[in-house]
Amino acid sequence: MGDRRKYIVGNWKMNGVADTIDEATAIARHATDAPGVDVALCPPATLVERMARRVPTLAVGGQDCHECESGAYTGSISVAMLVDAGARLVIVGHSERREGLGESDSLVRAKAERALAGGLSVIVCVGESKRIRDAGDAERHVTAQVAASLPEDFDPARLAIAYEPIWAIGTGDVAKVSDVAAMHAAIRDMLRDRAGAEAASVRILYGGSVTGDNAAELLAVADVDGALVGGASLTAAKFVPIVEAAAAIE
Ligand code: PEP
Repeated sequence: MGDRRKYIVGNWKMNGVADTIDEATAIARHATDAPGVDVALCPPATLVERMARRVPTLAVGGQDCHECESGAYTGSISVAMLVDAGARLVIVGHSERREGLGESDSLVRAKAERALAGGLSVIVCVGESKRIRDAGDAERHVTAQVAASLPEDFDPARLAIAYEPIWAIGTGDVAKVSDVAAMHAAIRDMLRDRAGAEAASVRILYGGSVTGDNAAELLAVADVDGALVGGASLTAAKFVPIVEAAAAIE
């Protein structure tokens, strides 16, 4: 098994204005020295630069990037812009973009490649719908998504995968621990086939209604190397207990 520190990442989605950075300051005060845990926050693009400047001990990231270096792409944000703003990581392929904006595996892979080439760490999100889960096809679907969304070559230290069942995101409906364990093991096997021993260093995060109440149980599962957290990352009061649960794991 690789030497994988737990990784707790907050995704603020379309939430947060200047005053909200106070929450990031409070998170950093309590969380960035948690033993054995890496903590990151991905605020909206408008806050990346300010958060990175005001909270330098926190890894700050983007929630998406464009697959091209620059150009006529109104409203998009490039990897170079994120780096320039102080970002250290970026999330790609979140289901809210795959489902809502029709982002395909190949587009997600192009974004991940661009981000790695530009010096960022990347979190590639995958996950099945309720219909696919109920049809018994979740593992096949998700491992195929991982295979098609990963860059050809990657530095395992700068790549993480977030398994986020779509039906668990923002619903309070957490996946069963046994299903999470089976899915993370399947993703690890798939990575091993693809990248050999290097696969052991890639962190696989779980996402979907993680809170301070369920984090300890989820983070104790083999191959659950951290969490991607939406709603419960918006305040220090909700996010810090998740980081503490990660730090408490041997
Ligand atoms: C997410 O958006 O990645 C997420 C997991 O959200 P929530 O924690 O709110 O379910």
